[in-house]
Amino acid sequence: MRSSVRVRKTAKKIIFFSFSVKRHASAHPYIGMNIFNKIFLLGKEFLFPGTCALCGCSLINPAEIRFSLCDKCRKDLTAAKQLADRDNKCDLCGKPLISEINTCLPCRNGDKRSYERLWVLYPYIGKYRRLLTTYKFGNNLALADYFAEKIMDTISAIPELNEAIIVPVPPRPGKIKDNGWDQVDYLVKRLKKIKGCPPVFRCLKRKKSKVQKQLSRTERMNNLKGRIFMTDSAAAKISPEKPVIVIDDVITTGSTIEMCSAVLKEKGFKNIYGVCLFFD
Ligand SMILES: [Zn+2]
Ligand SMILES: [Zn+2]
Repeated sequence: MRSSVRVRKTAKKIIFFSFSVKRHASAHPYIGMNIFNKIFLLGKEFLFPGTCALCGCSLINPAEIRFSLCDKCRKDLTAAKQLADRDNKCDLCGKPLISEINTCLPCRNGDKRSYERLWVLYPYIGKYRRLLTTYKFGNNLALADYFAEKIMDTISAIPELNEAIIVPVPPRPGKIKDNGWDQVDYLVKRLKKIKGCPPVFRCLKRKKSKVQKQLSRTERMNNLKGRIFMTDSAAAKISPEKPVIVIDDVITTGSTIEMCSAVLKEKGFKNIYGVCLFFD
């Protein structure tokens, strides 16, 4: 793109930004963001004009740029989620029920659950799946802000989660060093920036284990046994009376969240819940 066009585009954004801050002062996504982040976002957009993570259209206003999603795609996602939220969900794992009542078949068949309840936000299919793959494998970090807002909406609407603490599922050892980041760790970092976010404790650690992808639930449980742990000194810093929210990106068999919950339970935590972005 010719630089004069870019200068014009950026100038338009700055003008739009100044006006929109005045018009939507309470809801504007840049409110509360420090001046360096605002300059960084505008600078980044000037050098690398962004496109929507879902439909590929050019991002224009600050909210679109911040979330890496155009207004229309965000509206569509909200509408689809509202529709899905009306469906019956399993009391234990949060997945939609087909013909079952209250609890889904796998949960009823007695897979061990150390958590009280799980809430899952989106199915891991179609455009939702694309959202996660673009974030995770396409390194589109702006999407973390979108996910963080949706998690915060979920947490603040559930009375059991008031006064809770957030515990992210730990990354495999060396992952942050190798890749520069981990999708759950970064998500929690962005979550912490939202006003009213519960305190975050990275108290769970992980030892090396086999890649889980091709394994069944039982194999995954065996693979993770003793590999997720919490030191006594970490446990001593948190009151076990506090409810805990374990955060993960995708729930497939539920083995990772179960193993994290089992470790927390062993350390004396009684009320353990989970919030996952996607269910597979
Ligand atoms: Zn879009
Ligand atoms: Zn279930």
